[in-house]
Formats: sequence, structure tokens, C-alpha cells
Amino acid sequence: MNTAFTAQRAQVLQQKFMDTFGQAPDGIWRAPGRVNLIGEHTDYNLGFVLPFAIDKNALVAVRRKAANKTQSYQFASTYGAQDTVEITEILHENLVPGTVPGWAAYPAAVAYVLDQLPQVQLDGFELLVDSNVPVGSGLSSSHAIEVGTIVALNDLFELGLNKKEMARLTQRAENEFVGAPTGIMDQSASLMSGAEHALFLDCRTLDSQLVPLPLDEHQLVVLVIDTRVEHSNSDGGYGARRASCEQAASELGVESLRDIQDVGQLENLDPLVRRRATHIVTENQRVLHTVKALRASDMNAVGQLLNASHVSMRDDYEISCPELDLAVSIAQGAGALGARMTGGGFGGSAIALISEDKINLVSEAITDAFARAGYRSPSIFTVIADEGAGSL
Ligand code: ADP
Ligand code: MG
Repeated sequence: MNTAFTAQRAQVLQQKFMDTFGQAPDGIWRAPGRVNLIGEHTDYNLGFVLPFAIDKNALVAVRRKAANKTQSYQFASTYGAQDTVEITEILHENLVPGTVPGWAAYPAAVAYVLDQLPQVQLDGFELLVDSNVPVGSGLSSSHAIEVGTIVALNDLFELGLNKKEMARLTQRAENEFVGAPTGIMDQSASLMSGAEHALFLDCRTLDSQLVPLPLDEHQLVVLVIDTRVEHSNSDGGYGARRASCEQAASELGVESLRDIQDVGQLENLDPLVRRRATHIVTENQRVLHTVKALRASDMNAVGQLLNASHVSMRDDYEISCPELDLAVSIAQGAGALGARMTGGGFGGSAIALISEDKINLVSEAITDAFARAGYRSPSIFTVIADEGAGSL
């Protein structure tokens, strides 16, 4: 983590909080965005994923209001704000799924699920977010806000929730309150990651291991290519993929596709469902192989697995798009060890594992190719594997 930079942002946020709410916050919490190294759409199939938290994060300042005040929640964000930030106030009785408009649905969703817990009496609070996770780029800016909110409320209201519980609660928040049928990876990555490691997560049990990412040792970096094609998990594509997986699992008589180890078992499925399921089964295997390759410090093997993952998402799962495919193929052609789209798909970002002396070469090749194709200019930057959420 760039501590000096974060401290400086926190100082500005502290002042902004005072300007907005008239008093200092009780504290500031940090929750990172993430990239997924490999293991895409496997989370809701209760399989394996291997994401890591990145050095882009949401800072969330919160003040708990006195218990005798009207129970209400006030949410504000510096995002797009000029001099003053806009406050969305939600009364406790109006904390109802589907009714909170815009971005405030994310922190409101967290308040909602916590308030549902029998032992919790969630008095009012004021919350101000400042995030530098790019929005809608597949780096999980929405989960950074949810996770920042839950770690803050967990501390402030002394809820005693552990990371697994917080991950499950934010998933419920997103599913039940925001209405996006997303899995468990993003919030887990934001909560459980460790600096210079990838998070090997079993999405059935939420058991996890931190696997060292030997990038420095090999003079490698992870380059993110944000295509600036905005994706949305609430759109139909994501839900349709989930439905195909559920259909496959049900026809095969298993709880989830996690229980299928061999693509031979998929033979009798309808051809489209079979291709969808093939991606999940092979992607789970690729995650396990990537963990092994990382432990053996075999980065060429990691690169090959990233490439294979992209092909599977492009051809079997069909969640890529022309911009992502172009970013990936140009990166590969310019010498990346491997590249793949990352995140839910249908837009968002790709990642490339490249030698650090090729950052400019690869970036320029992709920017040029996008210009030639008439695409929006991509945003390209390197990320480091950062630690998970916590208080500052
Ligand atoms: P992703 O999580 O991949 O960035 P999503 O569509 O899931 O994309 O989430 C983006 C949404 O999260 C935005 O439309 C907005 O509602 C909310 N959001 C993200 N960052 C901020 C921010 N800094 N301030 C307010 N809302 C934000
Ligand atoms: Mg999101």
C-alpha cells in the first residue's frame, strides 16, 4: 500500500466529512478493489477463484449518531462532486430493497442486512466515500464501497463479525437489496487479500489461502487494460450464464458444477448448456493448476493458463467482447506471458502478465490498435497486490 498517498487522501476526506456533516467522523476505513487473476464465474458455482486486492480502494469515513436520534442513514460520495457533496438520507423505516436510488443502494444494502440480524440494533450513521477504483471497469468499485461500509459498521457498532460472515452478508446485500445476482468473490477478495499474494478461495466454504505472487522475483507486472466499455452485472448476460449453470447442475443431479471434475460428464447436456458448463469445469481446474504453478514459481505456466482461460470465456462462456479480445491478443502478440479478460465480462478490463520492461511497448501497442479499430481509448495501468480491508 502507498501509505503516504492513502494518508493524504484520508486527511482530505476527514475535512470533507466535517464540511458535509458538521462533525468529525469516528474513523476511516479502507476497502480495495480487485483483479481476478483466474477463476471467472466459478464463484457462484461454488468453485475456486484466485483474485487479489489492488492498490486502488474506497476510503469510507463514518460517524455513528446518538442512539436517541431519529434512526436515519446519510450517505455521500466525493465521486463526481464539485464543491459540496450531495447527501442521500434514508429513514430506517424506508430501508426497503429496491427503493434506494443510485449508488447509495450499496451502503444502504449493507445497513439493511446488518439491521436484519437479530442481535443488531443499527442506530443512525453518516457515511462519506472517497474511492479511486474506476467505476464500471470490472475492478469491483461497488464491492469496495460495500466492504468499506461493512468493516466500518462492524467496528463502530461492535458487531464482532468475522471476514467470512462479512463476505456472506455483503453478498446478501448485493443480491437482495441491490438486486444483482453476483457471487462471493469480489467482497471476499476485498476482505481477505494479503499484500504480494493472490487469494486462493474455495467459494463453497470460504476457506482461503494466501499464495505468494512472485512478480518482483521475475521482474513481472500485472497490467490492467480498462477497455472503458461499461459492463453491468444487473444486465441479462450475467443472470443468463447463472441460469445455464444451474440448469446443468440440476440435470446432472449435483448441488453445483463444482462437483463435476470431468468434462466427459457433460456429454448429454444440450449443446449450449454444455459449453457453458465446460467453461466452469475447466476453469476450476485452471485455478488449481495456477496455484500449483505459482507455488513452483513457474510464471510461463501461469501465463499459459491465463491465455487458456480467455479462450474458454470467449468461446465457451461467451462473455468477452471485441475490445477485450483485441486487448488480449495485442498483449499476447507484444510479448505478454499471458492475458485474459477479468471480472464479469461484457466489457470492463483485461489483465496481462508482462515483463516490467515491456510496460510501454505493450501499452502503446494496445492504444494504437484501439485507435485503428475506432474504439474508445483504453485506460492502462499496472496494479500491485495489496492487503485487504481494514481501518486506517
Ligand atoms: P464495478 O463494480 O465493476 O466497478 P458495478 O456496475 O458493479 O461496476 O458498480 C459500479 C457502481 O458502483 C456505480 O454505478 C455506482 O453506483 C457505484 N460506485 C462505485 N464507485 C463509486 C463512488 N466512488 N461513489 C459512488 N458510487 C460509486
Ligand atoms: Mg461491481
